[in-house]
Amino acid sequence: MKIIIQKFGGSSLATLELRENIVQKVREAKERSINPVIVVSAMGRKGEPYATDTLIDMVNQYKPMPRNLDLLMACGEIISSVTIASYLKDRGWDTIPLTGGQAGIITDNHYGKANIINIDTQLLLNILKEGKIPVVAGFQGITKEGNITTLGRGGSDVTAAILGEALKADSIEIYTDVDGVMTADPILMPSAKVLSAIDYNEVLELAEYGAKVIHPRAIEISMRSNIPIYIKNATTNSPGTLITNYNKINLQKTLRYPVVTGIAHISDRAQIKVKTDNNEDFFDPLFFTEIANNNISIDLINLFPEEKVFIIDKKDISKVEEILKENKYQYNIIDNCCKVTAIGSGMRGVPGVMARIVSALHREDIQILQTADSHTTISCLVKEEDTKAAIRVLHEEFNLG
Ligand code: ADP
Ligand code: ASP
Ligand code: MG
Repeated sequence: MKIIIQKFGGSSLATLELRENIVQKVREAKERSINPVIVVSAMGRKGEPYATDTLIDMVNQYKPMPRNLDLLMACGEIISSVTIASYLKDRGWDTIPLTGGQAGIITDNHYGKANIINIDTQLLLNILKEGKIPVVAGFQGITKEGNITTLGRGGSDVTAAILGEALKADSIEIYTDVDGVMTADPILMPSAKVLSAIDYNEVLELAEYGAKVIHPRAIEISMRSNIPIYIKNATTNSPGTLITNYNKINLQKTLRYPVVTGIAHISDRAQIKVKTDNNEDFFDPLFFTEIANNNISIDLINLFPEEKVFIIDKKDISKVEEILKENKYQYNIIDNCCKVTAIGSGMRGVPGVMARIVSALHREDIQILQTADSHTTISCLVKEEDTKAAIRVLHEEFNLG
């Protein structure tokens, strides 16, 4: 049986016009004799009635237990699955809405970011064999004990990928509000270009460094099962971006590896500098253990004898400050930063990429607060207010537009 996973993001479900697009995508799959499994996210964006952020805001002030917050957040996707299944039924398709748990996604009890431990495809396969279309609520699973969990923000992509793998789907289509994976976030860089094809490894880095068009875990799952992913605009017929392995792309001669393929960014960072005055005895390495014990992740870590520098998510500033004060450290915090990263498999071993980045940012008077690099990435921490300019300058420097 040929199966395709069609995932529709929150911005692709809310209106009747958008739902009609889903009907069309289902029809196209059926016309090719492929059985669609639909995965849906919570409808709309922050502020709209059933969006995940809106649900969180309803209870945030009461500091709910993680288990209870997951139960609430999962409702957004369940509402979408019943609504979309009902709409499709009205348009003549036999559909069955399912929660993530009913679709067989079993997780551990790491609420808010649960790990998938098993998939039971029995019910999904039975539905497909009867010629019906399952409409699965994304972003969620269920523990063995029967508690509903969520898979982390943006997790409906993970649902699509894991079901694709478990059902041995031919391909996964991710429908969203942009034309595909682009050279930068088009909200900040309107002249960003759609990449017609990209290798799993490269898009994984783009996603990990902040390009939220696809969840990095979804890429990892599809890469290990070697299932191609298409990222497409739900409202157009544009071809979108094909994500697959390098060899397949290369055979199609659509890929040359440029030095930089795209620019990603992560906002809402804060830089912390702890002064240690060249006196290592003054600094207790258990400080980092204490930070970790509070579930705070740190990034861009540079340790010098005179100071320890790292960045955190802005939301964790008060907790980190509390720990710094308890330890009586002198410190400095820059609380409005953004990590901007140039990504490209083609930069491996190429000298001068850092020099171009530093010169380009310098020309525009953009201060670099910190840097980090790997073989295929160079990240610069800049002030939040410089984000747009930094992305534009790097986009231009590497001729991405
Ligand atoms: P959905 O609700 O469909 O899952 P998301 O908001 O999670 O949509 O992801 C789509 C958004 O990702 C786009 O609206 C775009 O602003 C943002 N984005 C960030 N970086 C990129 C990129 N490199 N290419 C495409 N979109 C990007
Ligand atoms: N609705 C969830 C979120 O906003 C999952 C998703 O959109 O993929 O994070
Ligand atoms: Mg998303």
